[in-house]
Amino acid sequence: MKKIEHIGIAVENLEFSNQLFEKLLGVAAYHSESVAHEGVETLFFKSGPNKIELLAATNPESSIAKFLAKKGEGIHHIAFEVDDIEQEIIRLKQEGFIFIDEFPKKGADNKRVVFLHPKNTNGVLIELCQEIK
Ligand code: ZN
Repeated sequence: MKKIEHIGIAVENLEFSNQLFEKLLGVAAYHSESVAHEGVETLFFKSGPNKIELLAATNPESSIAKFLAKKGEGIHHIAFEVDDIEQEIIRLKQEGFIFIDEFPKKGADNKRVVFLHPKNTNGVLIELCQEIK
């Protein structure tokens, strides 16, 4: 794994949190995107070399809606950038980690993404992401 690519934060109201994070970080979001198949709307902020992804649900069956109902707002996942997502999946499966999805999917911000199951990662949802070139 190369580095933490971003930290994902689950929010109830994307418009409210957009203003909140704009004030907090002193910059406007640089990217917004809906990922229909995940039932999620996202906003991305840069803070120096680091990124924050805000996630809000667009349908009540989405994993973000379920997370919010169960845990409330807060840190949702930590995303690590990788060079070769298939290779990392193989490596981590050999180490005994469980993945939520069998194969990488198209995620927000021009990435292919896959999530590890938090039950094997101390309760932290881990995303692997690889930039689409
Ligand atoms: Zn993410």
